[in-house]
Amino acid sequence: MCTEAGLETVLETLLFEGNQANMQAISDKVYDLGVRIHEIQNSIKMPHTDWSQIVSKESLVRSVTELIEHKKPDTTLYFTCMDRFVEQLNLREQPGVYFSNCVDGTKQLHLHGNGDILICELCHPVVIGNIYNGTSLKDIYTQQPSALTEFLEKRPCPAYDALFPDA
Ligand code: SF4
Repeated sequence: MCTEAGLETVLETLLFEGNQANMQAISDKVYDLGVRIHEIQNSIKMPHTDWSQIVSKESLVRSVTELIEHKKPDTTLYFTCMDRFVEQLNLREQPGVYFSNCVDGTKQLHLHGNGDILICELCHPVVIGNIYNGTSLKDIYTQQPSALTEFLEKRPCPAYDALFPDA
């Protein structure tokens, strides 16, 4: 419906252990739906849940390489949660293929309906304030909560830790 209405539409797919072998078929389906921007989010280790279907390094490289090789000229691929190690995996950007820089905690925070502000919904779900209890979004980077300061100093990345546990 969105593509028929001429709206720019993005579909996002989580690349994890359970679907890494089917990413090309998923990408083809996205194209058939008329969508020309496909975001592929790498799986993230989430210690606060039991979910742990992280894709292996080898599978990740295989899936990403296949998606790039079969990319149609009128399609743009955005790969996310891979920017910290994309060079180590020898993956390269090219026209229409981007490994987006992580903005969580630096340029983007998450706001829940109850007013809670979180650093990152999925990978670092630490509440750093609440807009209904006096936290100002406008001032949050100048009057930083200590948890945000610590996050910005350490810049932890569960996606990196999952693939490079000994680094
Ligand atoms: S810090 Fe979190 S959101 Fe950012 S790249 Fe790593 S896993 Fe993804």
